[in-house]
Amino acid sequence: MDELFQKSIDDLSEFYKFSEQELKVLDEADKAAEELVMPEYEHYMNHEFDSEAPGILAKHNLLGLPIKKEYGGLEVHQIVTTLAKERLGQLGMGISSFINVQVFLCAQTIQRWGSGEQKKEYLPKMVRKDKIFCFGLTEPEAGSDPASLKTTYSKTDSGYVLNGTKYLISNGTISDYMIAFARSADKHEEISAFIVDMHAKGVESTQLKEKIGLFTSDTGMIDLNDVVVSAENLLGPIGKGMPIAYSSLLNARLGVSAGCVGVIEASLKASLSRARERVQHGKQIGKHQLIQQHISMIRQSLEESRWPTYMAAFKKQEYENNYGDRALMDETELRVSLAKRIASRLAFDSADRAVQIHGGFGYSLMSPVGQLFGDSRVARIYEGTDEIQDLKIASELLGKDFEAYK
Ligand SMILES: Cc1cc2nc3c(=O)[nH]c(=O)nc-3n(C[C@H](O)[C@H](O)[C@H](O)COP(=O)(O)OP(=O)(O)OC[C@H]3O[C@@H](n4cnc5c(N)ncnc54)[C@H](O)[C@@H]3O)c2cc1C
Repeated sequence: MDELFQKSIDDLSEFYKFSEQELKVLDEADKAAEELVMPEYEHYMNHEFDSEAPGILAKHNLLGLPIKKEYGGLEVHQIVTTLAKERLGQLGMGISSFINVQVFLCAQTIQRWGSGEQKKEYLPKMVRKDKIFCFGLTEPEAGSDPASLKTTYSKTDSGYVLNGTKYLISNGTISDYMIAFARSADKHEEISAFIVDMHAKGVESTQLKEKIGLFTSDTGMIDLNDVVVSAENLLGPIGKGMPIAYSSLLNARLGVSAGCVGVIEASLKASLSRARERVQHGKQIGKHQLIQQHISMIRQSLEESRWPTYMAAFKKQEYENNYGDRALMDETELRVSLAKRIASRLAFDSADRAVQIHGGFGYSLMSPVGQLFGDSRVARIYEGTDEIQDLKIASELLGKDFEAYK
């Protein structure tokens, strides 16, 4: 078992009694991470998604962590899901992004909002990786303000017809289905969610390759031209698109936060070995005090990021047991925003320090810390930017009258 991961489990064991089954799940996460290290590195070098990765994750049962047993999932506590995600975050944000989308943005959303038929139809296939999903909220002119989206749906006798463009969509060119958000062509205020077949007539996806990191995550732009969606593929009640989207983002924000803790762990491990091995000015660089300061800061970041993340996971579990509780929802949102804001900032800072410790070699696509640096930057942007988290945190404290955006 990875040493830092074991330490997280041991530290948490002082507050939470893990069952045998939960420990086994964490052991599987560790095994999957071991199995994925080399392929992830190779695919990162080739700037491509690893099409074998979903199969490896499914083999270790990691695509069903929060999904109910009746649909083939493990139905484990949020803290277990969070820890498993932390371990996989050590590989960079590519695998982490895939899980965020497939599991937290899509499967959990169908589990919460889908009809009985939709759950039976999609969840077992998602858990087994037989169907890959993407989440289409962002558009070229609707990012931080998703409620300004322009994609439309028109009602027909048998369902709906969708038109519009979705932008920066993870898993965008490898998916079988997309959870897509659109507004009514007739009633401007009405936004709804749909399950769109990505192989249907009128769906066109284009890969967006020009990223500054996250090379093993597939990112696409998706055009929807008169795409027919059957009435059964409306997800949740008509007009409830934005609450559905926000509930999905809450799941994924916690996932990002956990992945970032993993990035910090990987930064620390790489920095410790480089500090012991590299010799300059006649001694190992780890014996220079300024390098020790970087190492100390990364270790502090690990401590500062994991506890808010674990707190958010416990709070989120409580909320999932009581969806109707509005006060609990607000508290959970605050905890999750705090965790994401703190962990993503510290992951980027830790990866930056790790690059510094590695010197010129660190500033290279060949070095794992270069990957951590490029990958972790996105965590401050997707699933709600730094600024949006700041606004959410401040307005939770100041009160609803101070909400700086709607
Ligand atoms: C690699 C990658 C993968 C992604 N995957 C997905 C996906 O799978 N599905 C999906 O739907 N989206 C996805 N996104 C989109 C992502 O969620 C958006 O990029 C993000 O929400 C920000 O939107 P934007 O890029 O349009 O930036 P903008 O909204 O244009 O923001 C630009 C800047 O203005 C700031 N800003 C905006 N509004 C305010 C305000 N009211 N107050 C203060 N500052 C403000 C922002 O914080 C930011 O700093 C992905 C993005 C990336 C980079």
